Amino acid sequence: MREKRSSGRDRHNRRGSLDISELVRPNVLTLAPYEAKIIPCRVKLDANESPYRRPVSPRLLKAVETNRYPDPQAGALRREFARRMLPSSIGKKGGAGRVLHGNGSDELIWNLICTFGGPVVYPTPTFSMYAKIAQALGAKSVGVPLTRDFEIDDARMIRTMRDEKAKIVFISRPNNPTGNSFSEEKILRIIGKAECIVVVDEAYQPFSDKKSFLGRLAGHGNLAVLMTLSKIGFAGLRVGFLVAGPELIAQVNKVRLPFNVNSLSQAVAADALRNPGRLEGGIRKVVSERKRVFGALSKMKGVAPCPSDANFILFRVSSLDAGPRLDAGKVWRRALREGMLLRGNLGSELDRDFMRVTIGTRMENNAFIEFMKKTFQSARTEKTMKKAGDKILEKGRRAPVKRSYR
Ligand code: PMP
Repeated sequence: MREKRSSGRDRHNRRGSLDISELVRPNVLTLAPYEAKIIPCRVKLDANESPYRRPVSPRLLKAVETNRYPDPQAGALRREFARRMLPSSIGKKGGAGRVLHGNGSDELIWNLICTFGGPVVYPTPTFSMYAKIAQALGAKSVGVPLTRDFEIDDARMIRTMRDEKAKIVFISRPNNPTGNSFSEEKILRIIGKAECIVVVDEAYQPFSDKKSFLGRLAGHGNLAVLMTLSKIGFAGLRVGFLVAGPELIAQVNKVRLPFNVNSLSQAVAADALRNPGRLEGGIRKVVSERKRVFGALSKMKGVAPCPSDANFILFRVSSLDAGPRLDAGKVWRRALREGMLLRGNLGSELDRDFMRVTIGTRMENNAFIEFMKKTFQSARTEKTMKKAGDKILEKGRRAPVKRSYR
């Protein structure tokens, strides 16, 4: 517990030791750390990772000069990314000048807010790091609620951008945690009206059949697209990319720390981009498993999955059929008791009713489906029993009291 300071200007507590919290910036003092707990489990379906791991070849490892600093510009990696990913509309030649590398896309979000400042605007619910990083950097952030069917409210976004004089807008498409892709037209309207930077975060785009906003970069100088290798098999490498016009990239590059992506990650990521066949196979499997898991959840009474373009599914658990008080927290704890880690605790709007499951291997998904069937079957039985119990109680209440206990 913080002790009271002995005098107004003193930074020492009563015991005479320096009170560190007196030195912390107020925006950091009230910041909650990002909770990415390591919880031992058999089936890990909480963090939107890929279930498929591509072993790193010993040849690659051997070539990495760990005694040297990494290439600060990550030249080979950025060129490979540009060659593979950039559409011809923005020109493959010199494309690397439109790409910035990050230690995961998290770091690029940090760099973007560090460069442009706030206010930062985003629809809610969405990826929590936009708000957290804004707060860490002392920037104001404003969430604009999605509509009831989780669509972006373009009119309200535009109004908020204007009223707040926003500097930067983040739009996750597909959106984490809802899984849907917001309407392309609505996002284009927002970009068109914005007098600020609009970042379309495409962390989950590889799992979607909707077109990437990379193809829209040529016509919109204020647009930037964020991408990551984390969801397609390389979360451990921490490699993300920002794609935008060369002027925007040059500004953000000023705040990037010099050796932000290490040599091993640069080498393995560049190799993965050079040989994308395996990546694409993994993505196809996840998409087909997503369809199967969605189908299974849709058939369960008391569970309502939301259509997803991502490698996870958001589902509602406490609809009327779900049985007596079976909420997200309870389902999360039951799953953990069986060694399965799901994602609950999704923020105030979704907290009690919604959970998120990452698509895993076929076996992991089967385990999840079985768990859900069992949980919701027993919840319904409990509900029926409770109903029957209530009826008996009700009858009992109406019947004359027998004083048999005397
Ligand atoms: N954007 C979105 C929408 C995400 O969900 C995540 C990870 N959960 C990230 C960015 C960050 O990914 P990374 O830092 O691993 O690249």
